[in-house]
Amino acid sequence: MNIPFEILRTPAAMRARAEYLRRDGRRIAVVPTMGALHEGHLALLREARARADVVILTIFVNPTQFGPNEDLAKYPRDEDGDLAKARTCGIDLAFCPEAAAMYPAGAQTFVEVRELQKPMCGASRPGHFAGVATVVAKLFHATLPHLAVFGEKDYQQLAIIRRMVRDLDFGIEIVGVPIVREADGVALSSRNAYLSPEQRAAARVLSAGLEAAARAVASGECDAAQLLALARAPIEAEPLARIDYVELRDVDELTPIDRLERRAVMAMAVFVGTTRLIDNRVLLSQPVAR
Ligand code: AMP
Repeated sequence: MNIPFEILRTPAAMRARAEYLRRDGRRIAVVPTMGALHEGHLALLREARARADVVILTIFVNPTQFGPNEDLAKYPRDEDGDLAKARTCGIDLAFCPEAAAMYPAGAQTFVEVRELQKPMCGASRPGHFAGVATVVAKLFHATLPHLAVFGEKDYQQLAIIRRMVRDLDFGIEIVGVPIVREADGVALSSRNAYLSPEQRAAARVLSAGLEAAARAVASGECDAAQLLALARAPIEAEPLARIDYVELRDVDELTPIDRLERRAVMAMAVFVGTTRLIDNRVLLSQPVAR
């Protein structure tokens, strides 16, 4: 039976709807986003559509994951445009709460994934991942999903959510979707809208660096310092770009790696002008046989 499309605005209304659907035996997938939808988000929605009876899109620009000097106020918002795009992927419901509905006055409870939140983006954005884990936990409580779909673009976020779901027994399947890129390799991001044409051209250095490292791995390079130097070179050569971090880390624990002998991800954050972009690539997806 088809579900009439509806936008839910409060956690209580969303949860009542999800409880009803669960009692009716439906398999629910949720796709959490901050809106400003692009093809990367639509890939997540299509994956969810293929795996569930009911697809819930959430759009919430979550204030607790933005630092005081970050882009919360100017983050692009276009609910009508987003819903029109999402409906081409066959979503059933949208959960679009206001901040006041998600965080009642006096809210003081946070979820922290203590070690995974520390390095990489967590080092540059203190408190960011506590905000992310907390809001995702709340979105899960509101939408009661069987599965949730996230992009590998936010690699550390995905690792943190997997760990939270495991540690706190959420019993939700977490599905990761590969990064959707533009033809020139730049990862799609809502923040690309902040870039001038020159900055957009300069943004190619992130994926170019990852590509250089991947090519070296394919020809046998295992030394992390060498691989990191190769990845940094095109970024350092670009006057509009400034490295926040470029690191090689264990795929699950996000601990630093010296030699490419176990599964590793190269992850980076780079400022292009004042816009902070992230990208990553898994460089060794299977441990080396010894
Ligand atoms: P955001 O709205 O930027 O918070 O992202 C919502 C979800 O979309 C997250 O799971 C992101 O990882 C995912 N996402 C964002 N950009 C991409 C992309 N280029 N490819 C795949 N997934 C993406």
